[in-house]
Amino acid sequence: MNEITNHLPTAELQALDAAHHMHPFTANADLAKHGARVITRADGVTLTDSEGEQILDAMAGLWCVNIGYGRDELAEAAARQMKELPYYNTFFMSTHVPAIALADKLAALAPGDLNHVFFASGGSEANDTNIRLVRRYWDLMGKPQKHVIISRKNAYHGTSVGSASLGGMQGMHAQGGMPIPDIVHIGQPDWYAEGGEMSPEDFGIMRARELEAKIDELGEDRVAAFIAEPVQGAGGVIVPPDSYWPEISRICAERDILLVVDEVITGFGRTGRWFGTEYYGLKPDIMTIAKGLSSGYAPIGGSMVSDKVAEVIGAEEFTHGYTYSGHPVAAAVALENLRIMEEEKIVDHVRDEAGPYLAEKWHQLGDHPFVGETKIVGMMASLALTADKSARLPFESPAGTVGLMVRERCFANNLIMRHVGDRMVVSPPLVMQKADIDLLYERALRSLDEGHAAVKEAGLLKTAG
Ligand SMILES: *Cc1c(COP(=O)(O)O)cnc(C)c1O
Repeated sequence: MNEITNHLPTAELQALDAAHHMHPFTANADLAKHGARVITRADGVTLTDSEGEQILDAMAGLWCVNIGYGRDELAEAAARQMKELPYYNTFFMSTHVPAIALADKLAALAPGDLNHVFFASGGSEANDTNIRLVRRYWDLMGKPQKHVIISRKNAYHGTSVGSASLGGMQGMHAQGGMPIPDIVHIGQPDWYAEGGEMSPEDFGIMRARELEAKIDELGEDRVAAFIAEPVQGAGGVIVPPDSYWPEISRICAERDILLVVDEVITGFGRTGRWFGTEYYGLKPDIMTIAKGLSSGYAPIGGSMVSDKVAEVIGAEEFTHGYTYSGHPVAAAVALENLRIMEEEKIVDHVRDEAGPYLAEKWHQLGDHPFVGETKIVGMMASLALTADKSARLPFESPAGTVGLMVRERCFANNLIMRHVGDRMVVSPPLVMQKADIDLLYERALRSLDEGHAAVKEAGLLKTAG
């Protein structure tokens, strides 16, 4: 264990962490009592912590380490670029080779006429760019009153004030005066939680038509764009009914609004296609990318922009940009990541092998008495925990109480599986092989068994109402 003991003892690291490090989406006082798990290294699909435990990472970090950990080629690409040109900006009539090469590569990979990219350091920044892009587009088209962006409840588009306003997370809006003006939210296509007595297909149509109704209510002359994730990720891997996207596409085609598809999770192979846009046959005007673009090895994101929108935006100065837009090291890492994805045919691996095998195992978990439904697209999957398989009702306890108990069992069983409320979600590295998926299944099943027993023991195995 020598290679992982080249640091302070775990308890000392945890104490320093608690003293100085404010964690994202965390009650730091509570974390300080438990101590954060210290991850020291990783290889393939496995993390190692400061105690030497080997943990299967079924979340690919935060939905991003698509090609797995420990790829020397990416480290070498970063080192080469740092030595040659560690930084230069792309403002003021300058450019550099990594940004040029990556933009060219992305234009070739992206569907339709999404031939232009505005770089950012991540998904939140890119979605902030999108707010400005769509509003600027309509200003330049002589329709400055078209400023409203329609999004969805329980959507996740990032955490900056702009992108969190696009998102539909009530807990986030409650902290810091969001949403900002002229962003409105319609219902999400979550049939399991909200579909009531309707069939999934009817419910999907109904939720899609909320977009049409909202455009009519506001007036088409006020609406700039609709933004959505092909499959909601952080909202709980909510896979829409099959009827949903075709109906949304019909509405977008009939109305003079822009479609922004947030592919931060679904992009770069997650669905078994290069983009979720292809999986669902969408025609976006703008597409948000980040996460899998570099497999998380360097922070980079961007907005892919159609010919139609880019031409209008480019007519005058767009007063927008980030110091690290197109950062050369991040761009070089992303390029190498995409090269490996193509060389190793990772998207085909998801579509033809890993995805179908994970689906088979995942649906087997659906037989568990604790599981109400299982959903999966490519390599992103969720299951709903339930106290009563026949009822499709939430637990009596506050949402997330039961989910957290199951996540704790996963943690103890060296499986990173996340909970969103009382749904469990996975989004593993795309390079997982069958043996890794078998291990994922075994640990998930054991965690469900133990979680079920613990929830029963605590008297929480009760449905609401
Ligand atoms: C993670 C995520 C974002 C935000 O990206 P960051 O890099 O964390 O800023 C935006 N949209 C979606 C769909 C995401 O999953």
